[in-house]
Amino acid sequence: MPRNANGPTKNKADLPEKVCVTCNRPFLWRRKWKSCWDTVRYCSERCRNARTRPTSDGMQGKSP
Ligand SMILES: [Zn+2]
Repeated sequence: MPRNANGPTKNKADLPEKVCVTCNRPFLWRRKWKSCWDTVRYCSERCRNARTRPTSDGMQGKSP
């Protein structure tokens, strides 16, 4: 019979984790990323937007 020797009880640490490419902080899987977790790179929308900072060229790719 297998038994847990001082094993941690149910933790929610079962969730996958990634590191945000903007703030370099680890963040946990969220339900809203259920379908696109593979493509998630930012911990939040703020970080996602922070990456597209205005260059010296101003806005690029924006059609008038
Ligand atoms: Zn972040």
